Amino acid sequence: MSVNLLDFDAKALAGFCAEIDERPFRARQLLRWIHRSGESDFTAMSDLAKGLRDKLSATAVIEPPRVMSDHFAADGTRKWLLSVGAGNGIETVFIPETNRGTLCISSQVGCALACSFCSTGRQGFNRNLTVAEIIGQLWWANKALAEESEGQSERHRAITNVVMMGMGEPLANFENVVTALNLMLDDNAYGLSRRRVTVSTSGLVPAMDRLRERCPVALAVSLHAPNDPLRDQLVPINRKYPLRELLAACERYLQSAPRDFITFEYVMLDGVNDSVAHARELVQLVRHTPCKFNLIPFNSFPNSGYKRSSPEAVSRFRDLLMEAGLVTTVRKTRGDDIAAACGQLAGKVFDKTRRESRGLMKMAR
Ligand code: SAH
Ligand code: SF4
Repeated sequence: MSVNLLDFDAKALAGFCAEIDERPFRARQLLRWIHRSGESDFTAMSDLAKGLRDKLSATAVIEPPRVMSDHFAADGTRKWLLSVGAGNGIETVFIPETNRGTLCISSQVGCALACSFCSTGRQGFNRNLTVAEIIGQLWWANKALAEESEGQSERHRAITNVVMMGMGEPLANFENVVTALNLMLDDNAYGLSRRRVTVSTSGLVPAMDRLRERCPVALAVSLHAPNDPLRDQLVPINRKYPLRELLAACERYLQSAPRDFITFEYVMLDGVNDSVAHARELVQLVRHTPCKFNLIPFNSFPNSGYKRSSPEAVSRFRDLLMEAGLVTTVRKTRGDDIAAACGQLAGKVFDKTRRESRGLMKMAR
């Protein structure tokens, strides 16, 4: 069976080249063709000898997930639905801003961590994405955006930032995510800065430590509550890794992190975690942790059982954090007319899968 070269980072490609009796610099050439030029056809790789091209065609493929649809939102946000087989789809969202372009990518089909306010969590867990499926999201988006900007300056780079904030818990798919991160950072592939690649986690403490050792990139932690009883309800993994342990892991992470703060995400749920008392408790909780806050107004989905906090409650909460010296931003809701906002990904397409994955989740428990 052919291997998919999109599954390989530089090290793995070098290993592959050794296996087919090719010199190591071929790995660098291949990396550039695949990721920089977005080429999936070996015969087009003009600086590779004909013999090598034939050998590659016989043993390997470059196979990204298939694009099923491509949507544009009124605010410029763009969303791709990619097929990953067996009726499963994953979504990738591009968010253009004045000085940067951020791609939000997924790491799993569904998620086993079952946060109560998250539509991905409600679907249950189906499977981990392969490296090709994770990096394939960046591969496609890069290609599509390059085509869109054709005619503009050659140096124009649409994607400056990647956030692993799509579907799934990246640290629960650790090895594949780290290999994909290596490609994002590799100068022969996407060449992104460590500070501009962010992994968002709900708080898998041992995996946070491993990420710090293996591939320290910017870290966002989904906090969502100022105390254990409330966080136990909203983010059930808290029962395993409670706040004290989570904050200690954040402080350890900062010793190797490319940024000198952790970003805490905090979803604003009306009447649940958005009171003045919650804000005060939160300030106390993080008093020893260098951090910034990103408040995310809840994005609703059918039968969620939650409501978005009022704009007044969000501003009041933000002001209380700011007065305590914590840099706080409120996330603008982007692309909600195409269901591309946080927690809204993969709505209707999953109706069938959703029922099936419930069973899978029970099995996984
Ligand atoms: N599993 C990771 C990353 C994916 S979710 C994590 O939980 O951090 C990315 C962010 O969106 C997380 O902070 C998550 O809590 C938040 N989120 C999930 N559902 C949401 C919703 N319905 N509205 C607003 N934010 C949501
Ligand atoms: Fe999984 Fe993150 Fe959703 Fe929680 S918020 S269920 S960890 S994707």
